[in-house]
This record gives sequence, structure tokens and C-alpha cells, in this order.
Amino acid sequence: MSATVARAAVSTRQPGEVVLEARGLSCGYGQMSVVRDLDLPIVAGEVAALIGPNGAGKTTTLLTLAGELPSMAGEVRWMGEPTTAPMHRRCQQGLSYVTEERSVIMGLTARDNLRLADVSVERATALFPELTPLMKRPAGLLSGGEQQMLTVARALGRDPSVMLLDELSLGLAPMVVQRLLDAVRAASKEQGVGVLLVEQQVRQAIAVADRVYVMQRGQVVLSGAAEEIGSHLSEIEAAYLTADSKDEQPPTDRPQSQTDQSQNHTESGNHA
Ligand code: ATP
Repeated sequence: MSATVARAAVSTRQPGEVVLEARGLSCGYGQMSVVRDLDLPIVAGEVAALIGPNGAGKTTTLLTLAGELPSMAGEVRWMGEPTTAPMHRRCQQGLSYVTEERSVIMGLTARDNLRLADVSVERATALFPELTPLMKRPAGLLSGGEQQMLTVARALGRDPSVMLLDELSLGLAPMVVQRLLDAVRAASKEQGVGVLLVEQQVRQAIAVADRVYVMQRGQVVLSGAAEEIGSHLSEIEAAYLTADSKDEQPPTDRPQSQTDQSQNHTESGNHA
């Protein structure tokens, strides 16, 4: 599967508009549902972080929102309308999906990787000045962090409406991860991109997010404003994010559970 794809033309979006959304969504592989009854709106100008233990269903969620997997129940909505469009169509419409695998073409130079995605060197180096002296170098000879900067520059350079990011931080130093996440957050705030970030670096993800969803065994068990989740993080990590905590109850003084999420979204005016 292609790792980073983006659309060809700019579409309009209003801050606070729900640009991509899972509504009562169940999805999985073959007849086996992995994710059940998921409500998750991605909002223009906001970063949502989806966190959870290994195998919780985070990647499956992204694949379904991207159109790579079909929904088994419920729906995916694009710009307020139900969609079953395949991934390449969603990408033409403004989706950018950065998968776990590094997506650069190793045998091509950094410049040619950008050219292939129709992104200018100027745009990429404005996002990541570190890439400036590396343009003539084959992407395969860049460091992991530089490759990931190139990946993110390619994705953001196409001015997407929605960005799905799966484990941007895989194998990278915390400082590099911070650079990447800061660039994504800046794009969200300045260009109104709606971002959904799946991340194992929970603290770093929460620090750049507006809203956080905690997924466990295919269901969102907790969600809330990033500040609120961040202030309860130790309890949340113990209850939801460690391998041996699967049957723990949520902390009492906690952010919202999945059942009371919808009220908050309505309050913040995020639904289209
Ligand atoms: P991680 O953080 O480890 O990447 P995740 O939360 O992204 O985990 P998923 O990759 O969505 O989890 O996997 C959720 C469940 O679906 C797991 O039990 C996994 O084994 C299963 N799964 C993933 N891919 C497939 C597949 N192609 N066919 C069948 N089952 C799969």
C-alpha cells in the first residue's frame, strides 16, 4: 500500500467543521470486527490523538477512515456526507494518509520524491529547513528522521483537508518526533487541516492534540480535551495503556467516557 498520498486540489473548509467522521462505525477483517461502534469526528483546525495499547484497533480505524477497509456497520462521513469511496478517491478529495511504513522512494533523491508528489522544494524546506542541503541525496541515504520529515513535507505540501498519521514516531528520537508533531500541529492551526494522530508516544501526542480518544479492545473507552486527559495521564496509563490493565475500571475523577462524548462535541459546535 502506498504510504503517503494526498489530493490534487484545495477544498474549502471552515474551522470547527467536521471533515471526516466515524459514526457508529464497526470495522475489521473479513467477518471479524475489530473496532466496534466508534464515534470519532475529525475537525478542521484540530488535532485528535487516538491512543491505546497494541492491538486495540487504532490502525484498523485509520485504514477504514481512509477507505482501505470497508465499514461493517455504521458509516464513514466525508465533509458531512456518508462515503464508501476507495482510498485513492478520498486522497483526490483531500485526504493525506501517512502509514506506519516509511513512504519515501529510497532510490530517488529527496527532490524527486517531492516532485513525484507535486510538492515544491521551497514548500518542503519551509516546513523543514533541515532538508535544504539534502535535496540531491537519495532518500535511502537519509536518516530515519530526515525520511520522515520528507514524508510529512510531501503530505503537508499538498495542502490536505484531512491528515491521518499512523505512528509517525516509530524508531525516531524524541526531538525529531517533536519537530514532526509541531509541524503537523502548525499545519492544523494555520491551514485548518483536520488531523487524526495514532501515536505510541502518548505524552508527546497529547501535548500537540486538542482532543484525545483512548481505545481499548476496539472501543473508545475514554475521550476528552487533551488538557484534561493530560492532567490524568498517570491514572489513564495505568488503567488503559499497559498490557496488564485491561480489566481495570476507569479512574473516578476522569475525563468523559465514550457514552457522554456526544454532548461535548455538540457543545463545542464541531458537528457539521
Ligand atoms: P499497534 O499499536 O500494535 O499497531 P493497533 O491498535 O493499531 O495496534 P490494529 O493493527 O488495528 O491495532 O489491530 C487490531 C487487531 O486486528 C489485532 O488483534 C490484530 O491482530 C488484528 N489485525 C490487524 N491486521 C489484520 C489483518 N490483516 N487480518 C486480520 N486481523 C488483523
